[in-house]
Formats: sequence, C-alpha cells, structure tokens
Amino acid sequence: MKVIDLRSDTVTKPSKEMREFMMSAEVGDDVFGEDPTVNKLQEKVAELLGKEAALYVPSGTMGNQLCIKAHTQPWDELICDKDAHIYNYESGSIAGLSHVQVVPLNGKNGIFTAEQVEEAIRPEAYYLPKTRLVCVENTHNRGGGSIFPIEEIKRIKEVVDKYNLKFHLDGARLWNASIATGISMKEYAQYFDSVSVCLSKGLGAPVGSVIAGSKEFIKLVHRYRKAWGGGMRQAGILAAAGLFAIEHNFQRLAEDHRRAKYFANEISKISRIKIDPETVQTNIVLFEVEGLTAAEVCQIVKDNSKTGSSLLLSIGKKYLVRAVTHLDVNDDDIEEAIKILKAHFN
Ligand SMILES: *Cc1c(COP(=O)(O)O)cnc(C)c1O
Repeated sequence: MKVIDLRSDTVTKPSKEMREFMMSAEVGDDVFGEDPTVNKLQEKVAELLGKEAALYVPSGTMGNQLCIKAHTQPWDELICDKDAHIYNYESGSIAGLSHVQVVPLNGKNGIFTAEQVEEAIRPEAYYLPKTRLVCVENTHNRGGGSIFPIEEIKRIKEVVDKYNLKFHLDGARLWNASIATGISMKEYAQYFDSVSVCLSKGLGAPVGSVIAGSKEFIKLVHRYRKAWGGGMRQAGILAAAGLFAIEHNFQRLAEDHRRAKYFANEISKISRIKIDPETVQTNIVLFEVEGLTAAEVCQIVKDNSKTGSSLLLSIGKKYLVRAVTHLDVNDDDIEEAIKILKAHFN
C-alpha cells in the first residue's frame, strides 16, 4: 500500500546522491579538530549566518541546550514563547541541564512582542530570579511554521540590549523563513548572540545541527558539547550530508511552501475541515476537523478504508491536525492526500 507521510519534515531519507557524497567524504578525528569535512561544514554555516565560528552538533536539541547553558547561570530565568520547542519538546532540559527557569510568554502562533518581553524582565533584587536570556524560534514549529517578523526581532533586540540580556535564535527552520521572505540567513542572524539551525528538517540530511556565534562563545559550547557526550570522531561522513543538503536542498524549500499553500487552499474547501489558508506561511499546515480529535483524524486517514493508500498526519494539539510538506513528497502525493481527506470529511 502506498504511504504518504506528512507527519514531519524530519522523515526524509537521504537520497542516493547524498549517500554517495557521504561515502566519499574525507574524514579525521573531530575530537582532535582534524575532520576536514566537519570543519568545512562549520565554516560554511558560520559564513551563511555571518558569525565568527560554528559548531556541528548531533541534534537541534543539543544545539539549543548548549547555547542556553553557555548564556546562563543556575537560578537564572529565560524568556520564550509558551509554545517554544526549547520549552515543550526538549525533555525539560532547560531545568535539567542548565538549572534555569522559564517565563513563557503568551504569543500568537509563537510570535511575541518587544512589549511582552520588557514586561517579563525582572527588576534587580536579591530575592528575584535574574533574567538573562530571550529566545526566539523562527519559523515557529508549534505555531504552524509561522515566520517571526524581522521588524519585531529588531524591536526585541533593542530591549535585549537595554537590559544587557543575551539573545538566542532557535533557527531549526530558519532556512524556511529565509526562502519564504527573501531575507537572508545572515540578516536574521545578525541580531542574535547565538543561532542554531537544523540540517535534518527541510534540508533532508539524516543527522545534525549547527550552532553559531562569536569565537569565544563557540569555545565555551565546544567544551560543554564534549562534557555532555557530544564529541564525535570521524563525523565528517555525517557532516557531508549537511554540506550536500545546503548545496542542493536549500533553495528548493520554495517547492515545499508552494505545496503546503496549495494543500491548505484545497482542503479549506472540504466541508468539515476548518482552516484559514492565509495562516500558512511555510511548510507546516494546521487544521481542525469538526467533531473529531486530531488523534481520531490521524487514525481514520492512516487506515483509509476508501481510496487504497495511507495518509500519515500528526497531532498538533488535541483538536489540531498537523501536515508538513518536505523533500520526499511530490505534487501527486499532495493530490492523493487531498483526495483522502475529501473522501472522509466532505
Ligand atoms: C526539530 C526542532 C528542533 C530540534 O530537534 P531535534 O529533533 O533535537 O533535532 C529544535 N527546534 C525546533 C523549532 C524544531 O522544530
């Protein structure tokens, strides 16, 4: 049976060309700093983000948490959206690894304002936690792939500077934001002390993320990466996939965005589906089906008793279904997915 997997852009598998490129990668011991392919990837991403240095890490979670660790001290406080990945989907690591607490802001689809940040900053007092860090996510995963407006980032940066805070960007999908807006990665990154980007989402690499910042900052996170068990040896064989992905799969993200928009427009015509296609800015589509939980919808289209193929979707929230376009789905797959939803919910 044909399976159309729209659960996430993390489900992509390395293509034959990517595998061949990985196989031919020059490698060395990266714990000695001697892997030329890892070094090349780090230089490439540092350049793309306009930062002095970068560090290859096994996952986006480790990347974000290393940055949080490096910017804070135990007992500090960080400010982020209530739906932030760092707060919801990283196993409680802000508390567990950095001993820092979170002030979750009530943003709209993951986007908050400079005023909300300023209001959440603690005055100086020995009995209050110390506000140390503000974190932005762009695009916003739980917010449905929403793009954080660069004008608001600039305004938040003014607040960050006024109170002498640090500013981190969870840019797991910054690639998508950049392609959708035409604003370069570097332009976005300039406002932040640290940036993390994923190679294994829309770009389609099997493994890896990169974090970037000043030389001094990277020296510190390098130390923590080793301490947390993230030092890898001949990692160039994996880093090669990242280099290949940036070269071949970055610009094509526009296709994923076009398909997500088309999918959203088409399913908005289905009688029991509730969605505003205008809210779809990149490759993530969130929608509701009248009278059904997201879990029920996922089960119905997975079993799909009507058209002979299986559609995999994921749960956004209790009543919010999530569909994500990516490298391994084409126009025909999207047509089939629409057909399955029509068959069940019209
Ligand atoms: C996927 C993702 C991450 C990192 O996830 P890993 O699975 O640890 O690589 C971080 N932030 C956002 C917004 C993400 O979507």
